[in-house]
Amino acid sequence: MYRFAPSPTGDMHTGNLRAAIFNFICARQSGKGFYLRIEDTDTARNIKGKDRDILEILKAFGITCGNIYYQSRNIRFHQQFAMQLVSEKKAFACFCTEEELEAKREEAKKNGIAYRYDNTCLKLGDEEILTNEKPFTIRLKQPESPITFTDDIKGVLTFEPKDIDSFVILRQNKTPMYNFACAIDDMLENTTDIIRGEDHVSNTPKQEHIRASLGYTQKITYAHLPIILNHEGKKMSKRDDASSVKWLLEQGFLPSAIANYLILLGNKTPKEIFTLQEAIEWFNIKNISKSPAKFDMDKLRQINREHLRALSDREFANLMGFEDENIGIIGKIYTEEGSAVKEIEPKVKAIFAPKNAPEGFEKEFDTLKTILQNAPYFEGFDDFKSYLMEKSSLKGKAFFKPLRHLLTNSEHGPELANLYPAVKTYIKEIVK
Ligand code: GLU
Repeated sequence: MYRFAPSPTGDMHTGNLRAAIFNFICARQSGKGFYLRIEDTDTARNIKGKDRDILEILKAFGITCGNIYYQSRNIRFHQQFAMQLVSEKKAFACFCTEEELEAKREEAKKNGIAYRYDNTCLKLGDEEILTNEKPFTIRLKQPESPITFTDDIKGVLTFEPKDIDSFVILRQNKTPMYNFACAIDDMLENTTDIIRGEDHVSNTPKQEHIRASLGYTQKITYAHLPIILNHEGKKMSKRDDASSVKWLLEQGFLPSAIANYLILLGNKTPKEIFTLQEAIEWFNIKNISKSPAKFDMDKLRQINREHLRALSDREFANLMGFEDENIGIIGKIYTEEGSAVKEIEPKVKAIFAPKNAPEGFEKEFDTLKTILQNAPYFEGFDDFKSYLMEKSSLKGKAFFKPLRHLLTNSEHGPELANLYPAVKTYIKEIVK
């Protein structure tokens, strides 16, 4: 069983979407299931409505999942398992206060050593524990031997017991810590394969240790994805617009193009332009590069243009708010001028808007406008052009510049000869 486990704490990060896509593809390839788990136990950071946003984004990308779980509904199980570990003496109550722990952290920092919990409370006797009325957390005893797992991208990884530490699994208020909730849920929900960002690598030995302590033996396969870098080569953060899937969609990048780009990123693929369905046929997580991948906006733009051109004319028209499929043909011509719908749409709308004369060519503009309003219909651009030239006695720049403005309301744009077939039946509507 594969899963995607986002936290509803902000706009979905492009890196998270990449993990969702990879999990979905691998689930389809293997015939294993795929489920969604909303990791909403950090109530202070949850944002209302973000779970809905996640569902909508997945739907827009064609990522369908089976069950949808909310982590918060499992809290009673997290608590029960913590109690079981305490009764089996695999976990223990810790009465250390935050101030005491902070002082020890400071001390370690001063001595230039990595802080590890010193197991003070592990040494407490039953009597001391039972008579203590101070609030306590529950810590899982650190493992006795190293924890090793194989990562499909990073290879074999081993973590020493001291680096895993006797870490907190239940807070003083008895809510589960992140790693504990996640490890238990993966166990309860029969997860067999986890693909997620490499920021979770250091969580994995803890999660493995939690499940092993509970006697769970189902093996989980991992792939931790290298981070995505921004154009400066730094980790792509919230400050980078492209880190937000919502932002990319609002710019008019198509879900199919974004998915194509994210599958291509840091990967070896048999071709450059493809659909999610096609990728299911050949995708191999083991081909994902170990090194971080740089997000290249220009590449995404090129891929988006290809996906726009592959749409039906009607689909393209609808994206720009038109019903008429011919407007989709115009849109496709304008993929030479823009890459995202948000860039192309205003250019197409300008064709149907009232026109302004180019500076210095006001007279020529008016002359051509009058002729055009009364001109017959021409099938080909050459006949259309010859007729206008002859009637207006204009040529060169004095002809083409005002004509371009009359047809497109712009100084620059596609070759008029290329545009004409798509607009020829609208000339009377356009010239105003
Ligand atoms: N909730 C975690 C996140 O959004 C993902 C945890 C996981 O995939 O195990 O980064």
